[in-house]
Amino acid sequence: MKIVGLTGGIGSGKTTVAIFFKALGVPIYIADVEAKKLMVKNTKLKNKITALFGLDSYQNGELNRKYIANLVFKDPEKLKDLNNLVHPAVAEDFKQWVSAQNAVYVVKESALLFETGDYKNCDVVILVKAPLDERVKRVIKRDNTSRELVMERIYQQWPDEKKESLSDYIIENSDILLTKNLVSNINVKLLNII
Ligand code: ATP
Repeated sequence: MKIVGLTGGIGSGKTTVAIFFKALGVPIYIADVEAKKLMVKNTKLKNKITALFGLDSYQNGELNRKYIANLVFKDPEKLKDLNNLVHPAVAEDFKQWVSAQNAVYVVKESALLFETGDYKNCDVVILVKAPLDERVKRVIKRDNTSRELVMERIYQQWPDEKKESLSDYIIENSDILLTKNLVSNINVKLLNII
């Protein structure tokens, strides 16, 4: 089975595109969603997170997001440490998930596919793009957040120019119907070349 990596900056429309693939029958794995689940249900990972951040990391079995967000916001090294715990757990979970799928290819959506080096494990990479101001507007609306916080996250990600040369397909996600058609065309191509 082939692995198709799907990535793009915050607010570009990765999840929207992933859902279009799903509607065509392609199994999709959303790394961010699975990471959040693993942080709650994977005991080994939970223990490591507690060892790193203390007992306040969990409250009634739920991840204390505010507490952890506060700590990693103040200390980038701690964010690295957290990522170093979560990424291997997600990689292992993804491996198991893939082995349970029955399809020509699967789509793995990850915001940091390039930044983590995970793109090297993919057979094909799809990059979703949208104009920066449009992305900021979408995220402010979706998350009810501020421009400053969105920009902070954008600065932590690679610029699109750096990602483009490493991508096999680029989806310019402005007009949603065009995006849907493009996904359908890419699916046909992938089914034929893979
Ligand atoms: P993140 O990195 O934060 O997970 P993402 O890249 O997965 O973001 P989405 O969640 O798919 O992005 O899209 C961000 C928001 O923009 C959503 O509310 C979505 O409905 C909306 N959106 C996606 N594509 C378009 C589009 N072409 N036109 C207008 N709105 C869009």
